[in-house]
Amino acid sequence: MNRRRFSRQMLILGTGLPAGLAAGQSMINIQEPESKEFYEEPSKKLPLRHFDVVVAGGGTAGLFAAIASGRQGARTMLIESKGYCGGIAVEGGTAIHSFYNLYTAFPGCAKRKVIRGIPAEFMDRLTEMGGCTGYPEMETGRGYDSICTAIDTEQYKLLAFNMLKEANVFVAVNTLLAGAIVSDGCIQGVITESRSGREAIMAKSFIDCTGYGDLCAHAHAEFTVPNDYDSCNSFSLANASIDDYYKFLESHSAIGQICRGPRSGEENKLVRVGAEELNIPEFSEKAKKIGMSMITTTVRDNYLMYVKCNYKIPGSVVNRDDVAAAEIEIRQRMAQGSELLRQYVPGFEKAFIARTSPSLCIRRGRLISCDYDITHEDVIDGRHFDDDVFVYGFHDFAPRFQIKDGGTYGIPYRALCVRGVENLYAAGMMITSDHRAHMSTRNTVSCMAQGQAVGTAAALCAAESCGTRELSYTPLREALEKDGVYFER
Ligand SMILES: Cc1cc2nc3c(=O)[nH]c(=O)nc-3n(C[C@H](O)[C@H](O)[C@H](O)COP(=O)(O)OP(=O)(O)OC[C@H]3O[C@@H](n4cnc5c(N)ncnc54)[C@H](O)[C@@H]3O)c2cc1C
Repeated sequence: MNRRRFSRQMLILGTGLPAGLAAGQSMINIQEPESKEFYEEPSKKLPLRHFDVVVAGGGTAGLFAAIASGRQGARTMLIESKGYCGGIAVEGGTAIHSFYNLYTAFPGCAKRKVIRGIPAEFMDRLTEMGGCTGYPEMETGRGYDSICTAIDTEQYKLLAFNMLKEANVFVAVNTLLAGAIVSDGCIQGVITESRSGREAIMAKSFIDCTGYGDLCAHAHAEFTVPNDYDSCNSFSLANASIDDYYKFLESHSAIGQICRGPRSGEENKLVRVGAEELNIPEFSEKAKKIGMSMITTTVRDNYLMYVKCNYKIPGSVVNRDDVAAAEIEIRQRMAQGSELLRQYVPGFEKAFIARTSPSLCIRRGRLISCDYDITHEDVIDGRHFDDDVFVYGFHDFAPRFQIKDGGTYGIPYRALCVRGVENLYAAGMMITSDHRAHMSTRNTVSCMAQGQAVGTAAALCAAESCGTRELSYTPLREALEKDGVYFER
């Protein structure tokens, strides 16, 4: 990027939502506001702040992006709309897939911890706190994942704050990313909204980890909205033991995935149980109707950390009113799901919902166009690239689609550079157009590693006052290796 562009005074305020202002075509019809009347907002002077790197969204990817950037010495601001960090990792999922290659599915395949660096450090610290199983091996379901990493959602949130603080990140929670200041293909700054009012945050490098691609949309990057997944909220069930759930499935010869690991301070306890071919009259039918998943994980006695309820939104996940309708529908489904478990699982008679996802969990929102789009073949053939920023070895479609020979593929740097914007990275569920490839790249541990990669890269760009495409690969690779990232070539 032309360095002078950073200092140009002609700033254009990007308010690219809804999608009407985006360069890309939406695959579905995103509604414009129905009103024919408009109010013209008066212009207003906003207080300014300056940083080197701004990370929008402190979820699964954004947390690690901010820590990585802060550790590189960049003045880093993290903007998160909720009151905590962690995103869908602490709101939706069951197990955190996956720090290892799928060695259990391929006889003779070497066991490799392929995601290391800051995400692995985080898990080690969480495990020490008693908030994570670590990496116990699956007993059954070994063609799907080799290990099971389950977490305690609340300890995860606490550790996230601690590690952000240690990395000197300026953390703005309860703060919405509401606009972008764009000029000549570069973001100059972003607009935030909080109870302290609207502010303009200027920086050199920007990272979109909002899951929805909000910053990319505000910056007029190309995107589509594939609408190719069910959305899904999850609930935690208290007064419900995973041992009783296991006995229930066993009595119906329906045991699928099992893993034993540390639970409430004791080793070798059940931490993951999933059903296979569960066919209990009425129960199965009702569970299917409300999209209730029969896999659960926990790290606590007498508590199921995650039970998921899936729902395919008839409209769009980026339409406020469609999402509001979905929130109501899924909340009803979760109530029905807990009632069903209470009725049918012996020992669950006094179970109750103790936690729900705070807002709709999506598997994909906007798909952001980047310089490279990872393909299905890249993933299953285990391809590596000259600009890999980490390697990954899990596929959520396994055993139907697996990475060749239980190996890994590389995530190239180009796959994280937002097309058409010179100083913006995208990380998390918003990359990878092919649904089958996305079923690998979107998983939690991949998102975390993407975060570390872009956080490191953004800090280096800020130090060099250069754009994403001007950053040399060698110093980036060296910085990632120094911070523990594992490569296979
Ligand atoms: C229900 C469900 C179950 C899943 N189960 C599993 C599983 O079992 N195992 C697995 O490995 N993967 C699972 N996944 C996939 C994986 O969890 C997600 O793909 C991944 O966590 C997405 O990470 P992300 O960083 O892209 O988004 P998120 O984690 O959602 O982070 C986005 C963050 O940005 C914030 N944000 C959004 N917009 C703004 C804004 N305008 N301003 C400020 N902040 C904003 C959000 O509050 C959020 O914290 C599941 C996904 C879902 C939806």
